[in-house]
Amino acid sequence: MSVIKSIKGVKDLLPEETPRWRLIEETARRWAGRYGFHEIRIPIFEVTTLFARSIGTSTDIVEKEMYTFQDRDGSSLTLRPEGTAGTVRAYIEHNRGAIPVPQKFFYFGPMFRHERPQAGRLRQFHQFGVESLGMADPQADVEVIALLWRILSDLDLPGLTLEINNLGYTADRDTFRPQLVSYLKQHEAGLCANCRHRIEANPLRVLDCKVPECRAITDTAPRLSDSLSEVAHSYFTRVLSGLDVVKIPYSLNHRLVRGLDYYNLTTFEVTATDLGAQNAVGAGGRYDGLVETLGGPSTPAVGFALGLERMSMLLPESTVRKIPKDMTVYVAGFGGHGVVAGFTALEELRLAGLQAVSDFRSTTLKAHLRQADRLGCRFTLIIGDDEVVKGSGVLRDMVTKVQHDINLSTVSAQIHSHFHAS
Ligand code: ATP
Ligand code: MG
Repeated sequence: MSVIKSIKGVKDLLPEETPRWRLIEETARRWAGRYGFHEIRIPIFEVTTLFARSIGTSTDIVEKEMYTFQDRDGSSLTLRPEGTAGTVRAYIEHNRGAIPVPQKFFYFGPMFRHERPQAGRLRQFHQFGVESLGMADPQADVEVIALLWRILSDLDLPGLTLEINNLGYTADRDTFRPQLVSYLKQHEAGLCANCRHRIEANPLRVLDCKVPECRAITDTAPRLSDSLSEVAHSYFTRVLSGLDVVKIPYSLNHRLVRGLDYYNLTTFEVTATDLGAQNAVGAGGRYDGLVETLGGPSTPAVGFALGLERMSMLLPESTVRKIPKDMTVYVAGFGGHGVVAGFTALEELRLAGLQAVSDFRSTTLKAHLRQADRLGCRFTLIIGDDEVVKGSGVLRDMVTKVQHDINLSTVSAQIHSHFHAS
């Protein structure tokens, strides 16, 4: 029969890899807790309109990357391509704005985008993200950026740069857009096909096009920073000085833009040199208009999302080595009575809180010891028929090869103490 394979761009995480992921997740979770963010778990699918309206119809995601399908009743549903839309939908639906304290959420989970799969770019990938709702204060921006930076620094990810830009307010961009459009039209012939289309649809996005010819043209384009209002300037200055105070390094990047009206002021991205072409580890910014766009009350908000696959790719060996190894005891029960006594001991050890394993296919001591080595167990508890008669077992240290007799009636307590001593 033919073998059924996984879908293109969708990856299995095998047990060799999951400890790295757990470390990343635990680190993110720990820092999020320290910063007063609480976990939210939102559905993996939602009505399509939610994403179309919140991400914007002129974005890559909505134009060509969404997994959209028709439900049995004919309604259009979409697998979530990101986590902000669902979080904001839940915020509105559960009237969280009525709660008189800031609503600070974090989430983990799979996201789905129909992209061309390559290293660091999958169709099912995973994000950790945070959303801070309710505070229109530069300190809230600094707080989420600091959280992002602490997580990445704690994991010791190499070659990171935090880039930051000021998108100003909608009115500022309304002043800027015609200047940019008229400049781009003058240079239209030199732009890539994508950007020529963007001139009308989403001109700001031309600024962050990666095509070298487009970059050369936009290098000398009018700058949004020259169109920003005094209020927008001063907000951003306070964000930057806040980052200085908490010693988070950044570099200004005028190309960092988002084309949608509910994004404003602070926008940022973290890149890593080691990631090659897919160099973004995470991105975020302020989106004061989104809650209202989705039908909620006007609510300031700021957040970010990190890509877990890319974090895992960057995780250095030195950090991986710090993951504590599981202490597992192997139980070698053999012979008519030894097998039964061995299985009883296995259960006792587990009930006493230890990790205990055996390979039930092994029938000789030699075979058991080989499996104990392969499984990386530090100790083996040997129970043959002779041991059963004596009411004892033999505890073998697999590294030093030293063996001790051990009383079977108090086996778990004794093994506990051996683990502590080793
Ligand atoms: P990119 O420029 O790499 O396409 P993006 O702007 O689409 O990124 P965001 O929507 O800001 O990405 O998502 C935040 C993070 O999620 C990215 O920085 C990246 O680490 C990760 N990410 C996004 N799309 C994918 C994907 N298809 N596969 C793996 N990770 C992804
Ligand atoms: Mg993308």
